[in-house]
Amino acid sequence: MSKTFDSTEALNDLNLTIRPGEFLTLLGPSGCGKTTTLRLLAGFEEPTSGEIWLAGRPVQGLPAYKRPVNTVFQHYALFPHMTVFDNVAFGLRMQRLPAAEIRRRVAQALELVRLGDLGNRRPQELSGGQQQRVALARALVMEPKVLLLDEPLGALDLQLRRAMQVELRQLQRRLGATFLYVTHDQEEALAMSDRIAVMRGGRVEQVGTPEEVYLRPATRFVAQFLGEANLLEGEGAASGRLRWGDYHLAVDRHLQPGRTTVALRPEQVRVRWPGSAAPVGPAENRLHGIVAERLFVGTGTRLVVEVAGRRLAALLPAGPGPDLGDQVELCFSAEHCVVVAP
Ligand code: ATP
Repeated sequence: MSKTFDSTEALNDLNLTIRPGEFLTLLGPSGCGKTTTLRLLAGFEEPTSGEIWLAGRPVQGLPAYKRPVNTVFQHYALFPHMTVFDNVAFGLRMQRLPAAEIRRRVAQALELVRLGDLGNRRPQELSGGQQQRVALARALVMEPKVLLLDEPLGALDLQLRRAMQVELRQLQRRLGATFLYVTHDQEEALAMSDRIAVMRGGRVEQVGTPEEVYLRPATRFVAQFLGEANLLEGEGAASGRLRWGDYHLAVDRHLQPGRTTVALRPEQVRVRWPGSAAPVGPAENRLHGIVAERLFVGTGTRLVVEVAGRRLAALLPAGPGPDLGDQVELCFSAEHCVVVAP
């Protein structure tokens, strides 16, 4: 589908299939069209062109309240004058369900988000994370086939965010519901998703499991958006290797002549320095350079090594390492040199 607002093209021929019961994350920079995609699915907007099918049928023209989806936004608006219980019960009361059923379903929803004993509190008597969970319970109690979540953890501190990531993921598995989740946090996307759709400029650039998009990025953009990547730009040589400065590097496939870009993760680069043990394992590629930068990053040390006038980043595990200015050897295998589209 495509969506244009006045002169802004928010979605440009976006094509995406979400499987029943999966946790799919839309990941991309600000303005790439994530929220617009959710709003179109929820029925708050209609596409300029294209179609949306939900649970086997087209939903064009169907008003939001008739669609089998529920939405949790980042800025969840709880009713401040109502208790937690009444906030969660609101949608069910609108449907005029019997009181006993409402009580049972609200209790169950609060139990799911571990707020079973806080039903009588009001929103202002809760922490940010608890309020967030009330917003979730309010959506879950409607038992949607599809839950749309727009940066639902955006307002939380890192520790709570991590805990809620685990809880949300467990909840989704337990319910067997389809979750479409929006974030611009790549770590969150990698940790939670069955699949990730990496978006850019109103399109889906790559869809795959977290392992696929991280380890086998299809484009430069995906390689750089998901963590750090060295981008080695060179020419396909007659040998089928990448000519990169003076080196002929073995990469993940046989190359044709022409300009080629290869992505290489810093943690896949192993480093030998004066006095270090020889790195174990195969490494088709061995380069020599000088340590130009050295940064302690907690879990290890990030090095920038100058190799024949070019720079390569390497991530060393915690422990001893080379000093600035040391001569080092960089080793990496062909399978980690992934050819990416421009
Ligand atoms: P963020 O991560 O910042 O929330 P996003 O990926 O969710 O970004 P969208 O909110 O979907 O991005 O916006 C996509 C593009 O469409 C942006 O250029 C935005 O300015 C534009 N846009 C979105 N809604 C409207 C609107 N109602 N009117 C005009 N332009 C809009």
